[in-house]
Amino acid sequence: MPLRFYNTLTQQAETFSPLQDNVVRMYTCGPTVYNFVHIGNLRAFTSQDILRRWLRARGYQLDHVMNITDVEDKIIRNAAAADKSIFDYTAVYTKAFLEDTAALRLERPERLVKATDHIDDMAAAIEKLDERGFTYRSDGSVYYRIANFPEYGKLSHNDFSGIRAGARVDVDEYDKADARDFVLWKAQKGGEPGWETPLGCGRPGWHIECSVMAMKYLGATLDIHAGGVDLIFPHHENEIAQSEALTGKPFVRYWLHSEHLIVEGQKMAKSLGNFYTLRDLLEKGYSPESVRYLLASVPYRKKLNFTLDGLKAAATSIDRLRNYKLRLETAKFPDGSNEKMTERTTAAQRAFETALDDDLNTAEALAAVFEYIRDTNTAMDAGEFCSANARAALEFLERFDSVFDVLRPSTSAAGFTDAEIESLVAERTTAKKAKNFARADQIRAELADKGIVLEDTKEGVRWKRQ
Ligand SMILES: [Zn+2]
Repeated sequence: MPLRFYNTLTQQAETFSPLQDNVVRMYTCGPTVYNFVHIGNLRAFTSQDILRRWLRARGYQLDHVMNITDVEDKIIRNAAAADKSIFDYTAVYTKAFLEDTAALRLERPERLVKATDHIDDMAAAIEKLDERGFTYRSDGSVYYRIANFPEYGKLSHNDFSGIRAGARVDVDEYDKADARDFVLWKAQKGGEPGWETPLGCGRPGWHIECSVMAMKYLGATLDIHAGGVDLIFPHHENEIAQSEALTGKPFVRYWLHSEHLIVEGQKMAKSLGNFYTLRDLLEKGYSPESVRYLLASVPYRKKLNFTLDGLKAAATSIDRLRNYKLRLETAKFPDGSNEKMTERTTAAQRAFETALDDDLNTAEALAAVFEYIRDTNTAMDAGEFCSANARAALEFLERFDSVFDVLRPSTSAAGFTDAEIESLVAERTTAKKAKNFARADQIRAELADKGIVLEDTKEGVRWKRQ
């Protein structure tokens, strides 16, 4: 089966191939750096990481652009409240974003670009839209006239033909009921940041930022544009309106949108106490790879119910994978190969690949891996798994991990200091002497989760970082 993605634009699963050569030109909407990213954001970024890795596994090269939105309504509001310049304010959260995504092992896109580095490009694009008759001015700001783009609504599959011409919206985010001419360039007001351009002093709207940066680096037509479903309207709809009005060409060939994440069955909200950043979860002692595993385990077009039990289950699944790998590396197998097991490995590999080719069905891909582990463990117990089979199994595991990337334990992000480890080891020794084996086992597991291995010797307990 060829590689297929569900395209929001056509509402169909379509066979994927890039427009030119073997290179996939891809744009993803990056963070608006006004706060730490939460796990809902990280779900979208994680599914894009799985997408990147699977495209590469399928032999494609990537040219992936991600923007950092560092000027926008919320940033201006928060920076003013913190009495900081937007540059000082966003620098903190840009750095935090890079740390969090690195902890989650999200590959860095080929180009990570900042909106404020492209203000002149944006002003030039708006002037071009003006020449083409897609804009008008009001109070020094420039608006996009959606009545002049009859295809408006084609991505979100909404009929906007009845909306009132000339009604305007100035904020960057709004919902379908508020669909109106949107702002491209905002005239400077009060103490807001502004840039001197031929349009006057002001700043770009959020939507034009992405159109301009995407086409500057990737050309008029991109292969893939991805983001969360919350971006379909108005953001991506507006990106299409701007970009296609500028070039007269289709802006994006495949639109991929990841579904919402809910927490313990409810919408994530600060008021409900279920609002998590990655940092919150690491502080609670969960490992980054458990978070990564849970976020990746549900296919991106399905709603993900993120629960702390789910995180514990993720840690258990990762343990099973690591123990299996350890068994393959250390157990003594009979020489040669068992033909039946060779076939089993081929079948598992095929099931894994077919699942990911099918619009990145990560749940099926994981199921293929765990069924294989169960079957081959049984074969090992029966002495029917040979050394050549073990080598093939390790190769399969490597292919799995080139996409899921959870086998290597993290030590730095959530690791213990040496003093903390010594203290836990001492507590474990005391617990064992008191015959409190439950607590002793719990400490061993806690340390193992952070990649610290204990070894009981005659001289006492030795520990090492994996
Ligand atoms: Zn965007």
